[in-house]
Amino acid sequence: MQKAGELFIVATPIGNLADITLRALEILKQVQLIAAEDTRHSSTLLKYYGINTPVVSLHDYNETKRSQFILKQLQQGKGVALITDAGTPLISDPGSHLVQTIRKSGLRVTPIPGACAAIAALSASGLPTNKFIFEGFLPAKSKQQLDRLQELATESRTLVFYESPHRLLATISNMQSVFGQDRYAVLAKELTKTFETIYGNTLFEIANWLTKKPERQKGEFVILIEGASKEVTIDPEVMRIFDLLLGNIPHKQAVALAAEITGVSKNELYKASLKLKNT
Ligand code: SAM
Repeated sequence: MQKAGELFIVATPIGNLADITLRALEILKQVQLIAAEDTRHSSTLLKYYGINTPVVSLHDYNETKRSQFILKQLQQGKGVALITDAGTPLISDPGSHLVQTIRKSGLRVTPIPGACAAIAALSASGLPTNKFIFEGFLPAKSKQQLDRLQELATESRTLVFYESPHRLLATISNMQSVFGQDRYAVLAKELTKTFETIYGNTLFEIANWLTKKPERQKGEFVILIEGASKEVTIDPEVMRIFDLLLGNIPHKQAVALAAEITGVSKNELYKASLKLKNT
């Protein structure tokens, strides 16, 4: 395996130490240096797998300086691996400055894929996965958080957020006020750990569930929100014509004729006719 002068972005477990690939372990043993977000935190994993590779820290506060150091190591032909405290580096984690620096220099950056809390949560949530957006952590301050949520209120793709336990309830409450208390959501808590829980309900019921037993608010969480339903609004004038047709000719014909006259799809008109019927 060629490792000289190559940077490896290595995913590590998000709780269960067994969730690491054979390739990741091999790379961590073979490189000359590991850059870790928190060297003490990562020592548990490295000890567990008998990895004795030298470790340096790379976190938000020293990333710029450390990137230059790592670049030099790579230029000398050394192999370096980047790991963070949990999951895939750079996903709401440090590493992006390092990767940009190394790629700009023309050296190779290789991903060693593995656990990621957002993807694990999404895969078991039951929410649509064909299209989703990853928002990571919302702003901590309530005003900025509400503003960001407002921008996402009509987003139709599944929304994926990370949140820390002490802000969880306040965030769910802000989500209720912006998305509506009936919006369906899933809380994925403590994934891969002993008390893993995946709870899906309306935002209102999720808030109740968390308040009823405050110990439920402890741990690590991914919040997934069902996308907003795509409601096509039909022009009132079109609706007036359609209503007239519905009152005078058979339903199927009225839909076909209104589609012909207005250019609105039959499918949308059909849905609108059901609404008209209900009102
Ligand atoms: N890079 C990591 C990844 O690939 O998922 C994410 C790091 S981010 C600093 C940490 C956040 O990820 C936590 O606050 C939580 O929202 C989420 N997270 C990490 N591990 C988790 C787990 N086992 N269960 C649920 N959420 C988790």
